[in-house]
Amino acid sequence: MKLGRYILAGVLGIAGSCVSVDEDLEELWRDYDLNKEIKIDEVMTEEDDSERSEKEKAIRDYVLTNLEKIIGAQEKKLGIKHFGVPEIEYGFGKETHLRKAKYDCLKDKIYIYSLDIPLDEREMLSAEEILNHELGHYYADGLSEELRGESFPVEYHNNKFEYAERIGIKLASEGIAEYFRVTMSPQKDAFWSGEFPNDLNPFELTKNLYPIGLSLVYPIIEGHGVKKAVVYLTENYPRTIENILDLDSWQKGALEELEFAVE
Ligand SMILES: [Zn+2]
Repeated sequence: MKLGRYILAGVLGIAGSCVSVDEDLEELWRDYDLNKEIKIDEVMTEEDDSERSEKEKAIRDYVLTNLEKIIGAQEKKLGIKHFGVPEIEYGFGKETHLRKAKYDCLKDKIYIYSLDIPLDEREMLSAEEILNHELGHYYADGLSEELRGESFPVEYHNNKFEYAERIGIKLASEGIAEYFRVTMSPQKDAFWSGEFPNDLNPFELTKNLYPIGLSLVYPIIEGHGVKKAVVYLTENYPRTIENILDLDSWQKGALEELEFAVE
């Protein structure tokens, strides 16, 4: 089975980098290029206070009303059981680091930073999409804590590992989160059929780790179900430069290992 490589460049604002939201979704997919620089969002700086607080309230209200609904929808569609409801912390006014949101695996908390998060689900990187992505991190972290008493991907944050392993863990982590977002979104059918990179340059741009990570984990999760695949991926990810430069082989090996794994 030849699977398309699922990507969405629009993810980039979710964590790590930033996002260009003014392009049509399909355009982004069709023209996605690992080497292309992305535009940086305008950071809201000149809003007056009342406008800011109105937006802030709207985002808080959205999350309050929808978080549990989104968790329920994920449980149904993905066949999983979440580990409760994560705490949400707002860091409005701190969006200068160009992130819209992030998940902190040590605090088990989702942070929402940006006031520019669209609440309309038809817009790219809407609050719903962001929550769907961050809940993917929350689930992987919860599962890892339950099974091994260890946060995921804690190693990444601790700078404990070498270069290749840091890339590998990020690919697994963002790939899982992206799988959650893409699977919950109506645009799941769009895909990118690009090849995995065969040199290290594309991995230097954080934005590329999202589509590559998603492409890497996609057939593993589709083939083995969310829970089994996430259990596997939070412990097994590309760890060497050879793995990173030949993700096709790493993926094939992972699929074989899962195929023959004793339940
Ligand atoms: Zn993420």
